[in-house]
Parts: sequence; structure tokens; C-alpha cells
Amino acid sequence: MRGSFILNEGLPRRWDEVLGAMPEATSALRRTAFRQLLLGRPVPIDEAAAAAGLSSDSAREAADLVASVGMAEIDEGMIIGIDGLTTRETRHRIVLNDVALWTWCAYDIVGIAAALEADAVGNTQCGMCGREIEVVIRGGDPQGIAAIGWLPDETCSNVMAEFCPSALLFCSRAHLDVWKTDQGAPSGEALSIESLAERGRSDWRRLIPADGSSSVKRRPWWT
Ligand SMILES: [Zn+2]
Repeated sequence: MRGSFILNEGLPRRWDEVLGAMPEATSALRRTAFRQLLLGRPVPIDEAAAAAGLSSDSAREAADLVASVGMAEIDEGMIIGIDGLTTRETRHRIVLNDVALWTWCAYDIVGIAAALEADAVGNTQCGMCGREIEVVIRGGDPQGIAAIGWLPDETCSNVMAEFCPSALLFCSRAHLDVWKTDQGAPSGEALSIESLAERGRSDWRRLIPADGSSSVKRRPWWT
């Protein structure tokens, strides 16, 4: 992951350092739950455990750890959100290969569709004026979207709480600049939709089997 590590003992630990306490179990659980969520329904933790080759106890412990850093949403033994994708209604909608889902932030719409080389239509709102922004992606490539994205600094201890609320799209550079001033000049990067897609391919790659990439456009690996 990019960014510098926070070494000061008094500060909350970085989310990816926390997941490093159970690297294999949390990775297996995230990959499995992500794949199953693509079908558009919540994933029982016990079912994810079996698919990931984990015991129920390990899977529950891993799920709690992932949720504790804002990288999973758990509701009554079901994983309803993982790594940005959720069955819970949010202000960021995505229809991903004909499956209706939501995401935690606008970056997730672009990044997840790009990483999956998917056809997707996303709907979000400009972070400054609230105007609707439609994101159309074909085969993982954004289709001529003029909006500009903001990617906040990722060095945080809880992704959903600290990163996602400001990983937004804006209808113009001018609207992004107004928002940044209002927010007190936060640290992060302004990126085109194409650059967000490129970043997303790298950020979500670990959740996608390497052998699925060649045929994904015709026959997605999760079907
Ligand atoms: Zn705007």
C-alpha cells in the first residue's frame, strides 16, 4: 500500500497494519465475500468460511477484524459489504454487469468496475453542488466522463469512516476547488476518471483471481 506508516504509538493503527495481524484469513475472507457479493446478495459468514477454507471461528474473527477497520459491513452474521461494495443503499449506486449494488464512495464505482473489466453504470453526486453524475464503464474503461475525482490520503485507521466520505466526484475542477477550500485544504489527489480507473485496477487486483482476467469480458469468473 502507498503512504507512509504511522509509527507513533499513541495514534490509531493504520487499517492495513491491523489486517496484517491475520493476513491470510482476512485476505481469503475478503476475496470470497467480494466474489459472492457481486451476485447482489449478502453473504452468510459461515458460507464464506466454507468457500474460503476457513473454520467458522477463524472466519468470524477475520470478519470482525476487517469490520473494525471499516473494510467490511456485518449485519447479523451476514457480510453485507466488503472492500467498497455493499448491498446497503448508499448515495453511490452501481449496476455492475446487470446486478444492482451500492458502493461506499464514488471512487469505488470507478475502481471496482475497472478492476473487474466490467460493464457498469454508476450514479453519484457532485461533492460540492449535489448535481447527479453518471459514470458509464464498458469492459472496465470509463466512457468519456468529464467529472473529476478526489482521492483522499489513505493513511487512516478506518476506511469507511475516514477515507470514503471524501472520495467523491465533482462536476468540474472549479467545484472541487470550492469544496477543498470549505474542507480546509485536505491532503489527497485530484484525478481524472481514467486515472481513478487505473488506480482501482491496482487497488482491487488482490481480490480478483489472476486466471480470470483473460476471459472476464465474455464470461465473468464469478458466474
Ligand atoms: Zn458540482
